[in-house]
Amino acid sequence: MAALKLKPGVVTGNALTELFDYCQENECALPAVNVIGSHSTNAALQAAKEAGAPIIIQLSNGGAHFFGGKFLPKEGHEGAIAGAVAGAHYVRAIAEAYGVPVVLHTDHAAKKLLPWIDGMVTAGEAFYEKHGEPLYSSHMLDLSEEPLEENLEICASSLTRLAKIGMTLEIELGVTGGEEDGVDNSDIDDSKLYTQPSEVLQAYETLRPVGAFTVAASFGNTHGVYKPGNVKLTPAILKNSQDAIIAKHGGGPKPVHFVFHGGSGSTAEEIREAVSYGVIKMNIDTDTQWAFCHPIKAYMDDKSDYLQSQIGNPEGDDKPNKKHIDPRGWLHAGEKGMAARLVQAFKDLGAFGKFS
Ligand SMILES: [Zn+2]
Repeated sequence: MAALKLKPGVVTGNALTELFDYCQENECALPAVNVIGSHSTNAALQAAKEAGAPIIIQLSNGGAHFFGGKFLPKEGHEGAIAGAVAGAHYVRAIAEAYGVPVVLHTDHAAKKLLPWIDGMVTAGEAFYEKHGEPLYSSHMLDLSEEPLEENLEICASSLTRLAKIGMTLEIELGVTGGEEDGVDNSDIDDSKLYTQPSEVLQAYETLRPVGAFTVAASFGNTHGVYKPGNVKLTPAILKNSQDAIIAKHGGGPKPVHFVFHGGSGSTAEEIREAVSYGVIKMNIDTDTQWAFCHPIKAYMDDKSDYLQSQIGNPEGDDKPNKKHIDPRGWLHAGEKGMAARLVQAFKDLGAFGKFS
């Protein structure tokens, strides 16, 4: 297997397609981590550095808004556009210091968020004019709630624009269960939680002539972590979809780059099977939120007696608590927890050390 030549920084265009092909050939996938600011971004970059692998850093609409600051208005899309642009510039400015190649991506955009996408692509086109590459590697459109024809029609039109500046599009077929970023699909009809291979075939035939794309297919995966046993994970749907395309169009062995949403809470065995059928990206959010939050709770519990006032603790009424209060102490505990959880994700996905 020829080694992949990737530079630290943001991976776009053909280099991104080559990276995903390399993942399929080597049966591994990259974690796609939702970040909300510089702390979670730094944790993600550190994990990738330790794993010796590229990482996918993504912002949801809410995450982009938070990156810019929750103080910005929620109404309209300006706050989330500005936050997404600022986040991308932050990643571009710091990735080289960590020596890490990054796929820069945005998460779910349903129909009502198309103006958000439009604003980011406009910024991407302006960046392309100056630098000859896009700001982001890819965006996601999640039109899985719309009829399939409409979903693919809008995706094709968007991809036409993205392809011109070397960008890839992630689409969604079928609905990921559970709840994330304020979108609650936990009551959805079970049959919608499973993508049909015929739908993947239709997406392939529509989008392949237009540009590079990845497919988030539903095979019983859910956002969030729930008690096991509610929905059955059926990764064979991915294999059947690849086979349906090969049967009609030849090529292969894995004509589609698949994305696994709702990776949190999955077993290593389930992940391995999905990866073997062509998954190149697995989203992880709930598990890293927990990994960031829990060490901070432990810190607060542990230091409780030192966090009641600025002065005065069990060592004396006049002792200052400055060093315990300093957010760098507890935020870094969260960063370390998140980085460690992501290193585990690289191992589960078979990507640890596969890129050096
Ligand atoms: Zn998702």
